[in-house]
Amino acid sequence: MSARRGGGSYRERRVENILDCPYNCDGQMSLKVLARAPGGSIFRCTKKRDHTKSSRTYSFFDKSNLMLQDIMVFIKSYLEKSSLAQCARFSGMAYGTTAVNWASFTRELFKEYFYTNLRYRKMQGVVEIDESLFGRRVKFHRGNPNCGLKIWIFGMVERDSNTLVMYPVSDRTEDTLLPIIERHVEKGSTIYSDGWSAYCKLNDAGYDHFTVLHKYSFKKTYINTKSQEVVEVLTNRIEGAWKHAKDHFRRLVGTKLSQFEGHLTEIMWRSAERGNIYEAFFNLLRSVYPLDSPPHYTYPTPLFNTWEGIPESQSKIDDWEIRPENTDAESEAESQIETTSAELFSGLVEEDSSAIMPNRELSSSELQERQLSTLDKVLQEMLEGSGSEDEGDTTLTELTVP
Ligand SMILES: [Zn+2]
Repeated sequence: MSARRGGGSYRERRVENILDCPYNCDGQMSLKVLARAPGGSIFRCTKKRDHTKSSRTYSFFDKSNLMLQDIMVFIKSYLEKSSLAQCARFSGMAYGTTAVNWASFTRELFKEYFYTNLRYRKMQGVVEIDESLFGRRVKFHRGNPNCGLKIWIFGMVERDSNTLVMYPVSDRTEDTLLPIIERHVEKGSTIYSDGWSAYCKLNDAGYDHFTVLHKYSFKKTYINTKSQEVVEVLTNRIEGAWKHAKDHFRRLVGTKLSQFEGHLTEIMWRSAERGNIYEAFFNLLRSVYPLDSPPHYTYPTPLFNTWEGIPESQSKIDDWEIRPENTDAESEAESQIETTSAELFSGLVEEDSSAIMPNRELSSSELQERQLSTLDKVLQEMLEGSGSEDEGDTTLTELTVP
């Protein structure tokens, strides 16, 4: 195999990663097929066969006993926006904790993406800004002191790229919003917004600021209060972005509040990464997991410095649901869920995974219970290559990520 250090696929980089044997035998380790090993391969010493090391060391799959193809099916389903229950079913994962943990674990990548790639993303040209309220439907939770908790989300969309950046904010004051705008929008850019008072100094701050004058079904008229210039805009990107965000949270049915930042960053990652989403995901994975050292997670908690995060007491609420607040009448009916009890959703509510390692190992009984889907079998055949069933050492040559 030709050496292409620093380049090549995720797989190739790992194969090139010949390890010095840690057992002081002066041998070297290389990756060998071992079907019974988690992930189907191990590092094995060239001098002594019993010198071995997990092939998953430092990888995204470290400490997981799940088969790699199951995790791949899970990731593929997740990226394709399957529900968590579907992701679990397709991949054969246990729904209760394993799938929840893997979903949470996957979203850590999106948080890191925000922190390293979007946190200082400068938008140019025309930028639409808006606020939206995400919260809980209160009507069935009378008496719960937390039922009125709402989260304001401030969002910006760069029209040229459709890139969306959102922040949960503790309030909507100018002191809170203006620094975010100045961080993300290049001076001299054009900003479209509603008439919220916090935006009234944007012209003075160096922007061409337009405020909504009239709104029709497919068209908005904006006016620049300083220059009196009037523009008409046929499509509205920020409302499209809110729709994506609302759809995202609606699809979850219910989610733990502690997962909120992860979901928010996932929406942003999806808006920023166009084209091949699998390629984008594995590029992200590779940037966080260099494989020759532990993963590079650098994001703080809370991730956003514009809010307090989720108080511990509130993150423990079992049936907390995050729902977009409908500020526009047309989507009100559509998002109204006429179910009278959160209990109905309780089986679908993501559990708080903070107390459990994301890569929890399956017990042997769980392993036995797990059933391969058709896709699993195809993937397994791909992994095993030319149908070889023996567990002898064979240098791996190919692994295609679906
Ligand atoms: Zn050795």
